[in-house]
Amino acid sequence: MSSVLIVGSTALDSIKTPKAENPRLLGGSASHAAVAASLFAPVRLVGIVGEDFPKKYLALYERHAIDLGGLQIRPGKTFHWAGEYEVNMNNRRTLTTELGVFETFKPDLPDAYRDTPFVLLANIGPDLQHHVLDQMKRPKLVFADTMDLWINIALPSLVRLLKRLDGFVLNDSEARALTGEDNLLSGLKRLHGMGPRYVIIKLGSHGSILSGPGGLFLCPAYPLAKVVDPTGAGDSFVGGMMGYLATARGGVERNLREAMILGSVTASFCCEGFGLNRTDKIRRSDVSKRVAELRRMTKF
Ligand code: AMP
Repeated sequence: MSSVLIVGSTALDSIKTPKAENPRLLGGSASHAAVAASLFAPVRLVGIVGEDFPKKYLALYERHAIDLGGLQIRPGKTFHWAGEYEVNMNNRRTLTTELGVFETFKPDLPDAYRDTPFVLLANIGPDLQHHVLDQMKRPKLVFADTMDLWINIALPSLVRLLKRLDGFVLNDSEARALTGEDNLLSGLKRLHGMGPRYVIIKLGSHGSILSGPGGLFLCPAYPLAKVVDPTGAGDSFVGGMMGYLATARGGVERNLREAMILGSVTASFCCEGFGLNRTDKIRRSDVSKRVAELRRMTKF
């Protein structure tokens, strides 16, 4: 079974919703993606935390058999992000971002990681994503995620990164900001022109759209009656998707749609608890049950 290398932020998240407030949860793009991917494939995590990082969170990674050989533990504080959701649970604003040890992060890979076939560059600065790719020996598949911040402050580096990717994942507002196109199909066309063969635009609770050589695929979100905390849903989606691709036989083109469905269902669990509380508890069989329900809901 192939492994997935995941680099991104490993954070402590303080999250406020209209119903509750939870400080210092395990978060970060790489944490969410890694736990999601670990449902399907072996995961190698590349990130940085400070000496304040709780042991119980290291234990959580270990419970999911996540390889921590690439996790740097450095003197100082772990990256801390605080955010607050509005009543609709879609709009979120950042309250604080304290970089801590993240400020000095250089994702140098252990030698054993360099030939990992599947690479997920989860959301971090594009210069760091480049640095990881520079160290890889011919990976089979490279996908990257990003956020509006990098479009605003690191655009040239992000544009150069796009040329090095097989697949790029972003949300609809980021796609608009990056391409200047309001129409999603026009935006997808522009994004292909910038490099990646596969482009996935995430639409939050409305699912996602894939554009690739096989045409378009409209991936539904699993409908939830109650969203507790959507933080990390996008990371869980792409993590679950890459985890599945690493284990599926027959190539990306054949498996990407199925992989997106599994990612989408994994993300639905993420939204049902604060931080990683819910995703931590699920099994592959829980995912399979929801996939079967989605199949029934979308067949016509
Ligand atoms: P998402 O809900 O998919 O946008 O991802 C939320 C995660 O992104 C949280 O767990 C945060 O710790 C992490 N995050 C927030 N700001 C940044 C940043 N500037 N760089 C990397 N990760 C971040």
